[in-house]
Amino acid sequence: MEKLYYKSAYIKEFDAEVTSCEKAEKGFAVTLDKTAFYPEGGGQPCDKGKLNDISVYDVQEKGEDVVHYVTREIPVGTSVHGVIDWERRFDLMVQHSGEHIVSGFINARFGYNNVGFHMGADMITVDLDGDIIKEQLKEIEADVNSYIWQNRRVEVLYPTAEELKALKYRSKKELEGEVRIIRFPDGDTCACCGTHVDTTAEIGLVKLISVQKFHEGVRIEMICGKRAYEYCAKAVEENSAISNLLSAKVFETSAAVERLLSENQQLKIKLSESENNMLDMIAENYVGISDKIVLNKKNLTPDTVRKLAAALIEQNSGLVAVFSGDEENGYKYAVAQKDGDLKQLVKDMNGALNGRGCGKPFFAQGSVNAKWVEIENFFSDK
Ligand SMILES: [Zn+2]
Repeated sequence: MEKLYYKSAYIKEFDAEVTSCEKAEKGFAVTLDKTAFYPEGGGQPCDKGKLNDISVYDVQEKGEDVVHYVTREIPVGTSVHGVIDWERRFDLMVQHSGEHIVSGFINARFGYNNVGFHMGADMITVDLDGDIIKEQLKEIEADVNSYIWQNRRVEVLYPTAEELKALKYRSKKELEGEVRIIRFPDGDTCACCGTHVDTTAEIGLVKLISVQKFHEGVRIEMICGKRAYEYCAKAVEENSAISNLLSAKVFETSAAVERLLSENQQLKIKLSESENNMLDMIAENYVGISDKIVLNKKNLTPDTVRKLAAALIEQNSGLVAVFSGDEENGYKYAVAQKDGDLKQLVKDMNGALNGRGCGKPFFAQGSVNAKWVEIENFFSDK
């Protein structure tokens, strides 16, 4: 089995012969005398594509062989023309190569190791065994981009055991047999079996999106190339929409949002003050009424219903029941009586008016689903 992706990561099409074909759980498992399909491994997802007109949906390494999982049977001896889904592969090469340089730069500057790496459909995550703060992330991003724009040629080395001993390189595990070293000159040297770009400028752009605490170190989210371009384009579009809405300059949108939030906070305080005044005025109308008060007020929030009931029991010793809502959506309620014990009443009310809610003996809150006339009837003999 000749692994064409190690000859060149840029082989997009090839001709081969089927050497085995077995029924798999889903479709068939096919091996070839040679392949350019990269199997899942080293943190890099597998290639997809076609053998003749048959879809290759998964590629896995099995011992020394590469197994292609296909949707239809291809008899042994068949000549096939393989086509790699190049857009997918090139994107993965770009993300993977970018990750090498970021990990290499961090390792050189802080001595931290990459202890976990995941290439998701949207985001790449890199887990490190040390702490990095946001400002440092910005510096690394700037350094890595300056480096990739130098368009350095990426080297693939197969050192002898002797040479390997003298070589300083990153590796996730103890390696045996022939070791494949990927070198980004002055950027990173790492043992890796994946596919990489030939020159660093192909990575285009490296964007480090976020850094947050993760286990003993941090997790960095990053994207490269077309993914980074599309992310930035979307962010610019979004920012420009905010800029238009707030009539703020594009680099001053966050200050404009801050002002808006602060104004909003002031308005909330004013609203709450006038609401309290209104509730006091309503409560004053009922001063001295020792009999019960049952009110139906429109469009109050549950919190305002509570506040109104609280204001009323300050002025009156009788039973107070405040409702707000309508027959379609139900009514929120607050039922209260100064020094009262309303447990049984609330239980009866919830039962009679299809309600729920509870609270302290002298103050309960909840909701009922009933007609207003039913609510009035319930309270008529209380
Ligand atoms: Zn690699």
